[in-house]
Amino acid sequence: MSTRLQPELSGQLMKYGIGDWNTCYHCGTCTAVCPLSENGFLFPRKKIRLMQMGLKDELESSVEPWLCYYCGQCTTTCPRDAKPGELMMSLRRYLTSKYDWTGLSRRFYTSEIWELAYIIVFAILVIISYLFILPSMGFVLDKTLTPEGGVRVNSFAPVSIMEPFDWIMAVIVASLLISNILRMYYKIIWKNSPSTVSLWIHIREFWRLIFNFAFQPKFNKCDDKRYWLSHWLLMSGYTIMFIVIVVYLPWFQTEKIFPVWHPQRLLGYYATFGLLFGLFIAIYGRILKKDVKFRFSHISDWLFLVMLTLTVITGILIHIFRVNGLPEATHISYIAHMAILVPMILIEVPFSKWSHLAYRPFAVYFQQLKKNAVPKKHKT
Ligand code: SF4
Ligand code: SF4
Repeated sequence: MSTRLQPELSGQLMKYGIGDWNTCYHCGTCTAVCPLSENGFLFPRKKIRLMQMGLKDELESSVEPWLCYYCGQCTTTCPRDAKPGELMMSLRRYLTSKYDWTGLSRRFYTSEIWELAYIIVFAILVIISYLFILPSMGFVLDKTLTPEGGVRVNSFAPVSIMEPFDWIMAVIVASLLISNILRMYYKIIWKNSPSTVSLWIHIREFWRLIFNFAFQPKFNKCDDKRYWLSHWLLMSGYTIMFIVIVVYLPWFQTEKIFPVWHPQRLLGYYATFGLLFGLFIAIYGRILKKDVKFRFSHISDWLFLVMLTLTVITGILIHIFRVNGLPEATHISYIAHMAILVPMILIEVPFSKWSHLAYRPFAVYFQQLKKNAVPKKHKT
């Protein structure tokens, strides 16, 4: 492990969050109260020490920031008001920018102007596509209604075009995320490591990745279990919506209006409920600022929440207008929905707030690989 010191590290980290971590005098209270401090993982005092000493490589090879779910207990009990929980949050943003090879993540996290500019450019491109490009190909709003009285959505947003577009977008996003996860793996497991991990250990421990993505058990270690539920509902709603839109669009975007108990509608209603519930808790908490985990919000937190809320609201509007036979209103809300959804997926998923959903379970997996690593044999 390199011991190259970077005294400017503390200043760099402060661009990713709020806190003056140099006030920490290492009393250890935060480590004592943190529900995750076990088995040699000292949350979060050790990270503050690394940051103060400017040990950049050690910090970048840490998994701990991803295991923290920001319960806020450390921040509440810190006698120096050093906001250790906020340090963990800032470290997650910092690490996201370090895994990302394009440099866009760093740019978005350190400049809201850049992030907003990218969002606006993608939104404009989407609007131009629906108002000019698709109509020039013959896909215009058909105001006649279906036999059930619904709107002919496929007349202006044909599945034959939308489905390949969704797949292209998914492949781009997945490629970016996977390449960043490989860089994360390199930093945590490979770079300067004195140990090796066998292929069998990689295979044997893989279930942890799936399990932690699906159930987020570390989150449940925090005292307030309600937040686990709201976060899980939000995450599951988002994942279901992403899968049905990208993988099953011909099944999901139909002109036929199915009865309310049809799986297509039930799945859509569940995902909408999960998203709305999780968003309500997160936004309400951030407005009230009573709970410490909602007290300090980075601009990237707000952008993600606002974009996701607008995506859900416009999605609900599309559904209401479509089943009630209102073609113009459906058309406008569909364009608005896509103008928010596309930039959100292209920016938030690989480069910003959303990416933590991928990095967290991988961190748990990599942590387990590290635990099972064996020292490298040196040639004599
Ligand atoms: S962050 Fe606060 S609680 Fe934790 S070691 Fe430093 S001074 Fe103590
Ligand atoms: S926010 Fe909670 S889980 Fe995270 S380091 Fe602090 S006490 Fe531990």
